[in-house]
This record gives sequence, C-alpha cells and structure tokens, in this order.
Amino acid sequence: MNCYVMTLFPEMVEQGMRTSILGKAMEKGLLTLEAVNIRDYTKDRHKKTDDYPYGGGAGMLMQAQPVFDCYRAIAERIKEGRAAGGGAEKAAEGFPHASETGSPACTARVIYLTPQGRLFSQKMARELSKEENLIFLCGHYEGIDERVLEEIVTDYVSVGDYVLTGGELPAMVMVDAIARLVPGVLHNETSADFETFHNDLLEYPQYSRPEEWHGKRVPEVLLSGDHRKIAAWRLGQSERRTAANRPDMYGRYCRKQQYIQLLRGKGKAHHIDMTESLRRGRGEIAEASAAGILIRDEEAKIYMLAAFDEGKAEEVAGWVPGDSSGWQFAVHQECLLAPLEQRFPVSVRLPVYHAVYTERTALSVPRHISFRKLGEDYLEEVMSRYHMPTDKGYLEERLRGGHIYGAFADGRLAGFAGTHQEGSIGLLEVYGEYRRQGIGRALEAFMVNLHLSMGYMPYGAVVEGNQASLGLQGSLKMCMSKKLLYWVW
Ligand code: SAM
Repeated sequence: MNCYVMTLFPEMVEQGMRTSILGKAMEKGLLTLEAVNIRDYTKDRHKKTDDYPYGGGAGMLMQAQPVFDCYRAIAERIKEGRAAGGGAEKAAEGFPHASETGSPACTARVIYLTPQGRLFSQKMARELSKEENLIFLCGHYEGIDERVLEEIVTDYVSVGDYVLTGGELPAMVMVDAIARLVPGVLHNETSADFETFHNDLLEYPQYSRPEEWHGKRVPEVLLSGDHRKIAAWRLGQSERRTAANRPDMYGRYCRKQQYIQLLRGKGKAHHIDMTESLRRGRGEIAEASAAGILIRDEEAKIYMLAAFDEGKAEEVAGWVPGDSSGWQFAVHQECLLAPLEQRFPVSVRLPVYHAVYTERTALSVPRHISFRKLGEDYLEEVMSRYHMPTDKGYLEERLRGGHIYGAFADGRLAGFAGTHQEGSIGLLEVYGEYRRQGIGRALEAFMVNLHLSMGYMPYGAVVEGNQASLGLQGSLKMCMSKKLLYWVW
C-alpha cells in the first residue's frame, strides 16, 4: 500500500511514522509513506499558502491553488506507478510540478481529515486497507478553501468529536490503523481478528509474566493449558467489559447472538454461511424480522437471504437495496429466487449444499506433504490451473491477502486450496499428475485445521451433483446440509 500525506508539516508525519511495526513494514516494502509538502506547490512569491476568509471571521484559510497542484502532482505520480517513500525533501524534487502535468485524475481515494467528516472506525480501516494508494489531505488554521475540496476529495473523515489544530495527527491515526491491517504487516495475521471492535466486542484482559505481581495472580484458567476453557473465559470477559463500557456495541452484539441462535435452530449446516459471517464479524444484519433475515457482507459484496415464512419471500427479497447489481446473493430458500430475479438481472444460479466440520479436534494431515501460503507471484499459475471460471482480479485479491495455500509434495506444487471472500473453504485444485494420492483430502484437512485454529467453524460448499467433492466431504466427516441453497449472480 502506498500512502501520501498532503501537509504543511511533512516532518511531523515523517518523524511520527517511521518507528516500530510500521517502520518495519516500510523496510519490508509492504507500505510506503510519503509526506508531501503543500508549500512546495504554491505559486506565491513569498511561499504563502493561506489567506483571509471572504466575508470575515477568525483565522486564516488554506488556499485552493497549492493544495490542488500538490494533488495533481501526486495523482500524476500514481498514474505513472511510482511508489511513495522518498521523504519530504525528495518529494519536492521527485514530483513533477502541476504546471508540467496533464490531467490530474487518478483512481486513488482522497481523504480530507476534518471534524465535519464521517467518524473513523475499525470497519472503515478494514475497507481502506484494501486500497493500493491512499491520499490524505491535512488541513490547518481554519481549514481549506471549499472549492478545491469539492474538486479532489472523495471521503471526509473525522477522528472524533473534538477540534484539533491540524489534520496531521488524524492522518497518522488513520495510516496506523489502516496499515496494520495490510496483510503481512502484523506479525501474527490472525491477531487483528481477535481484538477490540471485532464482532462488536471489546478485547478481554491480558496478562504476562510474572504469574503474581503486587499480590495479584494471573487468573488460574489462563495457566490451565485448556484452550476451550481459555476461549470461553475470554469471551465471557469480553462480553462483561463490552456491556459495562460500551452498551451501544453490546446491544448490537446481543442482537446478532439472538439471530445466530435462531438460524442454527432453523438448520445449522444450511445457515452456516450466515452464522459464521455474523460470528466472525464480517456480515451485518441489514434487515431482520419474523419474515426473514438479510445479511450484508460489504467487503465480499454478498447479500445472504433467508425467509422464515414462505409467504413473506417477496418482502424479504424486497429488502435488498435497488443499487445492488454486481453483488452476489446466497439465497437460502427456493421461494426467494423468483422475487429476487425479478428485481436483478441474474446470469448464474448455482445450487449448492453446505459441508460443515462440527468437531473441534484437528484432522490428521500426512507428513510428506507441506503447505505454504502462495503469494501474488503464483497468480498466473493459479489462474491457469483452477478449473472453475473465476475472475483474475478475485484470485489476485485472494493471493495478495494470503488466503490461498499450496500443497507441496517432494518440494513441487501439487495443488492448492483457500478461503473464499465470504469465509467458506474452497478454491480447491489438485494437479492432474497428483490426483488420487490424497492431496485433495490433505489440502481440505489443512484448511479445516487452519480455520479451527482461528476459532471458526469450518465449512465449504459443494455444487449439486459433484460426486467427487461429496465423497471428499464424507471422508472428512463433514456434516452436509439437507436442503439446497443457491448462489446467484
Ligand atoms: N474550522 C474547522 C471547522 O470548524 O470544521 C476546523 C479547522 S481545524 C482547527 C484545522 C484542521 O484540523 C482541519 O482542517 C482538519 O484537517 C484538522 N482537524 C481538526 N479536528 C479534526 C478531527 N476531529 N478529525 C479530523 N481532522 C481534524
């Protein structure tokens, strides 16, 4: 990810961001950060960037011209594909000046830090961590001339309901929260899945050595080595803390738990995609009533629908917002298909069963096969080998995020499997020359164990009639859903 911070105080940003985890991420090339001095782009003889506001009022305002020209230079640089990271002085030297450039348009989002913006959140950080380039615009004094904001800003973001002297600290807050979600930046990639805000819960209390300090002992359960008990204790603590400190969040969490229970009662395997989406903190309840439920997974661009009452299928299908073309649908009852397909043009309707691993013990995996995360450099290989017609961009995104694993036999890639965007295990392919050697089973067992270690209930989908896959699920003692559901897009 490349971050550009447009500021009048580049040294503040540069000095504030080059340490610890983010500093290492920059060294590893996972993140580049460049503070670009807006002052370098002013056409004023005295290097002035601000002036009095028309109509009077307190303070000075940053002028449109230097901000716009600074943006144009960054946009040009992004269009040319040159990464950031050169430092404040280098920025001025490296960027072409606006007058020398053509059209400023580039696809990068431009975030203006302002107390008037949408409140920054972990959810927004997750969404922005998927971007390749981000431009942050820091205001100072009384802010920035409205006309340039109208021309270049895509997002107005605030870090809280208070007024600061400048946008530099908010920009740094955002870069920090976003960058640590970029794959590879955190040492333990699952750790962001278990911390505060995930799944509408605050994190549980944590303890390190020594076992006793100031007469206070570490809770006994944490020393027990019993992972199930530890997980239950942590969840209880998280719930208690959230109820006490953030009743707003706790209300959302409780509502989700109610619907998870309800969906399980109506068919655990059939609704596993919905319950896991809610449990893992991915999906949100867009609508729910006695008629049914609609879950929205913004990141995967998927709506999951279930009708609790067949007579209300039209009502439930009607909950999907009209501007949802391009989204996928996981339709849990056949009666929902017609009203949904009346509203959205559908090109594919795939009937599938769910296969769920309901045990808690890890599966055995043969020793002679090793598993490794496949990086983006495997894109062409995966693309050419995967048997299902799949969008290249999707596979690229899955590889970039570290969601696809290769199985290696005798040091050679024999197949791969991964996690789909909405959370199911899939993307399974065993190379022809390695078939019937247990590689498919080993890959699926590996993925099941990986999901178990992340606290998930592992599941996948089997297309109706795929006997080979059904056999594989059976050999792994996966529990099959009794009814079909439909993947529609
Ligand atoms: N006059 C502006 C107003 O009332 O909205 C406030 C300007 S503030 C003193 C100067 C700059 O600090 C803003 O342009 C913005 O970039 C930044 N800033 C201040 N508070 C912020 C907040 N809560 N979140 C994000 N940026 C903030």
